[in-house]
Amino acid sequence: MTATTETTAVATFDSLDPATGDVVGTYPIHDAEQVGAAVARAREAATWWGELDFAERGKRLRAWGGVLTRRIHQLADVSHAETGKPHSDATLEIALVLDHIAWAAKNARKVLGRKRVSTGLVMSDHSASVEYRPLGVIGVIGPWNYPVFTPLGSIVYALAAGNAVVFKPSEYTPGVGKWLVDSFAQVVPEAPVLQLITGFGATGEALCRSGVDKIAFTGSPGTARKIMHACADTLTPVVIEGGGKDALLVDADADVAKAADAAVWGALSNAGQTCVGVERIYVHEQVYDEFVGKLTDLVRPLRAGSDAAAKIGPMTMPSQPEVVRRHIADALRRGGRALVGGLDAVGDRFVQPTVLVDVPADSLANTEETFGPTVTIAKVASMDEAVDLANDSSYGLGATIYAKKRGKELARRIRSGMASVNSVISFAGIPALPFGGVGESGFGRIHGPDGLREFTYAKAVASRRMPGLMNLTTFGRTEANDKTLTTLATLLHGKG
Ligand code: NAD
Repeated sequence: MTATTETTAVATFDSLDPATGDVVGTYPIHDAEQVGAAVARAREAATWWGELDFAERGKRLRAWGGVLTRRIHQLADVSHAETGKPHSDATLEIALVLDHIAWAAKNARKVLGRKRVSTGLVMSDHSASVEYRPLGVIGVIGPWNYPVFTPLGSIVYALAAGNAVVFKPSEYTPGVGKWLVDSFAQVVPEAPVLQLITGFGATGEALCRSGVDKIAFTGSPGTARKIMHACADTLTPVVIEGGGKDALLVDADADVAKAADAAVWGALSNAGQTCVGVERIYVHEQVYDEFVGKLTDLVRPLRAGSDAAAKIGPMTMPSQPEVVRRHIADALRRGGRALVGGLDAVGDRFVQPTVLVDVPADSLANTEETFGPTVTIAKVASMDEAVDLANDSSYGLGATIYAKKRGKELARRIRSGMASVNSVISFAGIPALPFGGVGESGFGRIHGPDGLREFTYAKAVASRRMPGLMNLTTFGRTEANDKTLTTLATLLHGKG
């Protein structure tokens, strides 16, 4: 992508096809004033949208899901052009979003609507209720690797909760962002409930400083820190969906063939540019050789390229091959071996699949997010050792376990926001499950009930429903009132 300032003084940048370098679109670089104007428009739209009932918002969201379904190949083409990912992978990504839209539309009222809660005996002269009100305007800042699924994880849930959204897609995928916003306007033409702003980091920073009611950020931990600095000035809350260094564990009793197949897809699909992609594998020594044999057999025929037969696309960011090269070089220098690929696998735009073994635990390929079609495999003497190694990471996003007996137990022991047992990345496709991480992987949640509440504030109302039983909140309180209270407290809590 290149930035230019045209003679008309409208600064623009080009979105490029990462496989060829061809320009596929040109977009404005919005400045702070333009971002502020979008947020002001969003605030008016939020009032209208927030006052619609859940049923009406749900209807519009379902209609949007219908547009995405009918035009899925058109959107996949735009995503393919900007990210380089194979058309079929782009289609899969969009298809996974459709369930989320349907779930959020259907469940928003149940999760967020007003509910009566118990008052307890002391306050039994009151009724009490809680509901979750929309925050107002949400700024969504997205990455390029899953330019549909990832930002929509915030956008859909924020909209279903009654907020307006100002969306800044990655500078690598502005065309996908525009497509999404334009298609939403087809089903909600009345007001700019979902708007697009485009540009680089400065445009994102302007959104953080614009007075939005929350920022939903998905991207790298380094940028997350900058976002939090910018948001601190206005005390704007943030949800951070950061990077990952996810581990896959294979126990001695696992179905080794299925584990190998899942590991290959989890590590190499989307050219390894997946926040919840498999980057490290820990295999029980009893099945290590069998697993490595099966995995390398599956990896060898795979190839990165731009032709229709290639299952792996290019690196979307031109700077990424250098990161991958650095990680492979560090691993090899420190005693690691490449069973497939290696340093020669790293080209200017494409990286061929690389499988590394004997890589020290503290080398870059095991500690930093590589975000390329590479994976490390280590032999472990026990699953306790595997859990310790998996947890020895500053990240904590997802995890995968292949095991017959202990799968769920191991899943719970891994310090990560999500885990899949005997399948890979499946948590992302289940709308009722919250998605998010711990540590450098971020905080806050998208998807599911937690994802809806993330874009709301809890509104608690206590309402007197009968004359006061004990008249506690008055200077007219009597000694008899105090006595009744202490007697009641002793009855209720005195035995604790
Ligand atoms: P990035 O951090 O470089 O950029 C993300 C977004 O932040 C872009 O839109 C960018 O323009 C914007 N930005 C950059 N500087 C900014 C600033 N100072 N203020 C405000 N906004 C700014 O990330 P990326 O390279 O686009 O995406 C890859 C990263 O995203 C990886 O680390 C990946 O693991 C992570 N990711 C996480 C999830 C998740 O759900 N946890 C999902 C997808 C990707």
